[in-house]
Amino acid sequence: MTNQAGRFGIHGGQYIPETLMNAVIELEAAYNHYKNDPQFNAELETLFNEYANRPSRLYYAEKLTKALGGAKIYLKREDLNHTGAHKINNVLGQALLAKKMGKTRLIAETGAGQHGVATATAAALMGMECVVFMGEEDTKRQALNVYRMRLLGAEVIPVKTGTATLKDAVSEAMREWTNRIDDTHYCLGSVMGPHPFPTIVRDFQAVISKEIKAQMLEKEGRLPDIVMACVGGGSNAIGTFYHFIEDKDVRLIGCEAAGRGIDTLETAATINTGKLGIFHGMKSYFCQDEYGQIAPVYSISAGLDYPGIGPEHAHLHDIGRAEYVAVTDDEAVNAFEYLSRTEGIIPAIESAHAVAHALKIAPDMDKDKIIVITISGRGDKDCAAIARYRGEDIHE
Ligand SMILES: *Cc1c(COP(=O)(O)O)cnc(C)c1O
Repeated sequence: MTNQAGRFGIHGGQYIPETLMNAVIELEAAYNHYKNDPQFNAELETLFNEYANRPSRLYYAEKLTKALGGAKIYLKREDLNHTGAHKINNVLGQALLAKKMGKTRLIAETGAGQHGVATATAAALMGMECVVFMGEEDTKRQALNVYRMRLLGAEVIPVKTGTATLKDAVSEAMREWTNRIDDTHYCLGSVMGPHPFPTIVRDFQAVISKEIKAQMLEKEGRLPDIVMACVGGGSNAIGTFYHFIEDKDVRLIGCEAAGRGIDTLETAATINTGKLGIFHGMKSYFCQDEYGQIAPVYSISAGLDYPGIGPEHAHLHDIGRAEYVAVTDDEAVNAFEYLSRTEGIIPAIESAHAVAHALKIAPDMDKDKIIVITISGRGDKDCAAIARYRGEDIHE
C-alpha cells in the first residue's frame, strides 16, 4: 500500500504490507517530534563529537592536487570516524531515536558487515539488544565482521533465502520487524526502503555536507565547484550533497559501481543501467532482468552491490540536479592504490570509486576550481581482496 508521504518526484513512497503500516506510522510520528527537540539534538551532537569523533576533517590533499595538476582537491575524512566509516552517523541517530521511543531491541540488515558492525556498536553503547540479518553467503565471505558483531554482543542470523546476500537480508529484517514492533526498531542502513527511512537516514548523514560547507567557507571563503561521493544505496552521497542542493553552482556527482562494465551483466550501476520499479518498500530505479525481476548485481566492492538506489537520488537524476557516473572495478582498484601512495590514505574500495572519477576530471579543470571527495570509509577491510585482485594471496 502507498500514500503521498515521502515522495521525491515520482520516487519513494510506502509500498509495504498492511502489517508494517503501524510500525512506519509510529516511527514517522516519533521522528517528526524528536527532530525538532533541542534535547534530542544536543544528545546526538554529543554522541557525534565525543563518541564518533566528529567533526571529521576536511583535508586539503596537496600532493594529490599537484600530481594531477588541475583542480584543488579536498577529502572529507569520514574514514576517521569511530568504526571507520560514515555509517556510524546514521546508526547513532536511529539508535537514540529508538531509545527515546522506548524500544529495547535493534535489528538490522548487513551486506559486507559494515552496517551490522555499526549497529552492534551503537547497541552495545546504549545497552540495547541487537540482531543482525546477513545473507549466508556474506557470513562466509565476511567472517571477521561476523566475529566483530558477536564480540559487540549482537546475534547474527544467516539468511538462506534467495541468493543469500544483502537484498535477502533486507527482506528478512522487514519480515522480522512486522512480527515484532513493540520492543524493536529496524535500523535501516541506507537512504532506501519505505518512507520515512530515506528521509531519516538522509537527515542524520546530512551532517557531512553541513560540515563541508562550514569548513570550506573557513578555508577558502567560498563554496566548492564539485562535491562527489560513491553511491551504493546512496547515504554517504546524499549526506555529501544535501546542504548544497540549493546552491546551483555546486555540481553534485555520484559514482556508481560499474563492476566489470555497464555493458556487461556484472555491474551494480543502478542509474546507468537500471529501470523504474518497486522493491523493498520504495519506487526507484533498480537493476532488473528482461522480465522485471531484480537482477543479480556485481561489484568488487561489497558495500556498493545493492540492486537499487535511494529515491531522492533517483529524483535528483530525473531533474538533472545531480550527475551519476559509472566507475569500473579496475578504475577503483587503481584509485585505491594511487591515493594510498600519493597521500598515505588507504580509502575503502567503495570510496575509491569516487576518487577514481576525480582522477579522471581534475587534470582538465583550472587550478582555481575546487573538488571535495567524500572518503566514506577506510580501506583496511579491503586490503586482502585487492591483493587477491592483483594475484597475490595474503592471509586475513
Ligand atoms: C556501506 C558503505 C558504502 C555504501 O553505502 P551508501 O549508503 O551508498 O553510502 C560506501 N562506503 C562505505 C565505506 C560503506 O561502508
